[in-house]
Amino acid sequence: MNILISLNHQLRIDDQPALQEALALAKRHPDSRLMFLYSELASTSPQTPDFFSPLHPRSRIRGPHQTRIVLQALQELKSKLAAVGIPLFCFWNHSEEEALDLIRKHLPVDAYFSFEASRLFSNWPIPEAQFPRTFTDFRKGLSLAPDEPIPEPVLDSLKPSPITAPDEWFKIKSLSDFGFHFSADPRSSFPFQGDEMSARSRIDSYFFNSEGLKNYKTTRNGMIGTEYSSKLSPFLAIGSLSVRRAWSEVLRYESIQGANPGSEWMKFELLWREFFLWSEQKFQDRFYALQGIQNRTYSYQESQERFISWTRTETGQPLVDANIRELNATGFISNRGRQNVASYFVHELKLPWHWGARYFEWMLIDSSMTQNYGNWAYLAGVGSDPRSFGSAPRYFNLEKQSQDYDPEGTYQKLWL
Ligand SMILES: Cc1cc2nc3c(=O)[nH]c(=O)nc-3n(C[C@H](O)[C@H](O)[C@H](O)COP(=O)(O)OP(=O)(O)OC[C@H]3O[C@@H](n4cnc5c(N)ncnc54)[C@H](O)[C@@H]3O)c2cc1C
Repeated sequence: MNILISLNHQLRIDDQPALQEALALAKRHPDSRLMFLYSELASTSPQTPDFFSPLHPRSRIRGPHQTRIVLQALQELKSKLAAVGIPLFCFWNHSEEEALDLIRKHLPVDAYFSFEASRLFSNWPIPEAQFPRTFTDFRKGLSLAPDEPIPEPVLDSLKPSPITAPDEWFKIKSLSDFGFHFSADPRSSFPFQGDEMSARSRIDSYFFNSEGLKNYKTTRNGMIGTEYSSKLSPFLAIGSLSVRRAWSEVLRYESIQGANPGSEWMKFELLWREFFLWSEQKFQDRFYALQGIQNRTYSYQESQERFISWTRTETGQPLVDANIRELNATGFISNRGRQNVASYFVHELKLPWHWGARYFEWMLIDSSMTQNYGNWAYLAGVGSDPRSFGSAPRYFNLEKQSQDYDPEGTYQKLWL
């Protein structure tokens, strides 16, 4: 029996119910052969994408930084699977359905499983009809604890037989195959690899082997270095880490050290991610619309010139330019930095927030449609910010932000 498992952009084997089902089936059929499939449709090209066209939420664009960690995660998975004789087929520029059709032309597929994106809750944590528009109502309305992760399976008990397939199916592209050429910037706040093992060692180091998690509540507004925040978002975005695993590791930390403001705040932030996921499911296309879930009139000016000055760090606003310089060079900027550059984009440059979101989607190493558009809509005053309901949206005073979060100008000097 040939069993095909589609990774579906989840680049890990930990906490995957579909994998457990596939393995249970393989156990019942000792002659089974397992195969993994990675198919990729996101538009990844070195040409600068069109940031100005109307948004199609289902058409992803992916830039150099996230592509780099996706390739690292795929390499690690491929080696892990190869060690137990399981092939990983890669289909670039193909949807999952197209890849499946091509595989079926070559060999029979008797059973097919697809991985699921990772969430804390597998069902609506608050009934859909009552799902709130704000995070606070979401958090207060939760009566269930998040689901527990499923343990990583032991793959080496399998005895797979070899599969012959076209050579190109086994090829993991390199960054240069996509036309991306750059070297890592030593100033990066995310100097890690993107694979599953690196995700777990980041948790070990930030939660257990340093004071990272303990101090998180006080450091989380920082902008420089690896330790002001967890840096889990790139792993969560490409699925090399399960959010249930991250949550359960916070609980494990609390069972050893006791709960503290740092661990509480980490859970709070992971719930933000969850809130946006369910909010998108509730509001569907409105979640991505220019008028947002509030269906609020959003006025803007379509100045491509101003947009380009923002992307090229030529706005003359030092904190904004420094952050975009860091974003362009590394793909990662702090949450504080993201809020500031997005607020400037919307309120000072008066540009359509979609353009900024599209640029982030391309440039961010942790780019995620839901998290990115949810946060942009929030800052544009059309999303889930309660302060913006029926009144003026939140506005960040950049002079004050610089004084509060970069009083010595250290960050701005680092990214001059
Ligand atoms: C304009 C804008 C765009 C953003 N785009 C993205 C994006 O594309 N992908 C993405 O993962 N995050 C996005 N964020 C949210 C947030 O900035 C990042 O998740 C966070 O900075 C990542 O760093 P960290 O993993 O060290 O976070 P930590 O501070 O350590 O937080 C732990 C985890 O909590 C979650 N989290 C924290 N803050 C938020 C938030 N505001 N919204 C949702 N989840 C959150 C993330 O999963 C994060 O990894 C965006 C924020 C803004 C303001």
